[in-house]
Amino acid sequence: MSKRDYYEVLGIDRNASETEIKKAYRRLAKQYHPDLNKDDPDAENKFKEMKEAYDVLSDPQKKARYDRFGHEAAGAGGFEGFGGTGFGGAGFGGIDEIFEQFFGGMGGMGTRRRQRGPEQGDHLRYDMEITLEEAFHGGDKVITIPRTETCPDCDGKKTKSDRGSETCSSCGGSGQQQYARSTPFGRFVSMQVCSNCRGEGAIISDPCPTCSAQGRIVQERKIEIKIPPGVEDGSRLRVSGGGEAGMRGGPAGDLYVVFRIRPHKVFQRKGSDLWIEQTISISQAALGVEKEVPTLEGTANLKIPDGTQHGATFRLKGHGMPHLRGSGRGDLHVKVKVSVPRRLTQRQKELLEEFAYLNGEEVGVESKGFFDRMKDAFGGG
Ligand SMILES: [Zn+2]
Ligand SMILES: [Zn+2]
Repeated sequence: MSKRDYYEVLGIDRNASETEIKKAYRRLAKQYHPDLNKDDPDAENKFKEMKEAYDVLSDPQKKARYDRFGHEAAGAGGFEGFGGTGFGGAGFGGIDEIFEQFFGGMGGMGTRRRQRGPEQGDHLRYDMEITLEEAFHGGDKVITIPRTETCPDCDGKKTKSDRGSETCSSCGGSGQQQYARSTPFGRFVSMQVCSNCRGEGAIISDPCPTCSAQGRIVQERKIEIKIPPGVEDGSRLRVSGGGEAGMRGGPAGDLYVVFRIRPHKVFQRKGSDLWIEQTISISQAALGVEKEVPTLEGTANLKIPDGTQHGATFRLKGHGMPHLRGSGRGDLHVKVKVSVPRRLTQRQKELLEEFAYLNGEEVGVESKGFFDRMKDAFGGG
C-alpha cells in the first residue's frame, strides 16, 4: 500500500509550524471522527491515516526523520518500535530468521535420531471433577485409569526365553541405519530408523504371549489421589510415575490430575474468597437484622445493621476457602439484596402510606390504566 505524504494528508505545507499542525489535526479529527461519520465507511481509514500523520509530524524527532527519509524510514508499520537505534536493525532481523530456519532444518535432517536406549513412558492426564465441598475439605479419592504397564511375565523383554531375541543383523543392534543423500545444500548422511527391526535393535523369534512382544500391557490401575484443601479449578497435581510404562527399562511417565470444580448452587468462588447473596426485606434493611447465612461448614451469624442499602456487601472473615498455599482461609462475602414486597394487605398499605406521609413523600401512581391492570392481576385492592 503506497502511502500519501503526511503533509498532504493533513493539508499543510512542509514549513507548517507546530501550531498549524495541531490546528489542522483538530479540524480533520472533527471532520473524520468515526462516531460522526457512521454512514461513511471510508471515514475510519481517513481518520487513522490522519492520526498517523499527526503522530509523526507532532513529534519533533519523528518529524525530522520523516523529513529526511520519508515513509521508507518507517517501514510498513510506521515509526513504532524504531526508537533511536537507527535503521540498521530491521533488515538484519529478517536474515537472522532465515539463518535460523536454515540451520533448524539441517539439524532436523542430520542429527535427530531415535535413541534405542531407555525411553520414558508417556505422561497421562486425568480430569477429576469435584464439588466445591470436596475442594474445601480436601481428602482422598481413588480413581481408576487404564494405562500401559511393563509386562509382568517377560518383565518388558518381549520374550520369556533366553534365546527368544536376536540382535538385528541389519543394524547390529543400534536400531538405526545410515543413509547418504544429496540435497541442494550438499551431501548429507542421515540416520534413520532401521527398517528391519523398526528401531528395536532386536528381532523377537519367541514372542511373549502375554504382551504379544510389546513388552507392555494395558491395565486398569486404581490410584489414590490426595485432594489438597483449597484446590482451585484447573489446578494440576503431578503423580510421579503414574503415567504410561517406560520402554527398554525407562521410567514410567507421570500422571497429571487436573481438578475441575463443579459450579455451586449457592456459593461463587473467587480465589480463596466465597460470595453469596442474601435477600432481606425492606423492613429488615431499614431496621437491621441478624441472619444465619450458609457457609461450607454450616452456618454463620451475620449482623446486618439498620439502614443497609440494596447491594451492600458484608465480609465474614475466615469463612472462605482454605488457602491452597500457606495457612488460613479466605473470606465469605455476603451481598445483600433488598426485596420489595409485591402484595400488601390493606393494613400494610395503610402503614406504608403513613410512613410515606411522615417522610413527606408522595406515593401512588396516577395512571388509571395501571390501577386497572393491578386490579385485574390481584383481584382488586
Ligand atoms: Zn510380556
Ligand atoms: Zn535393525
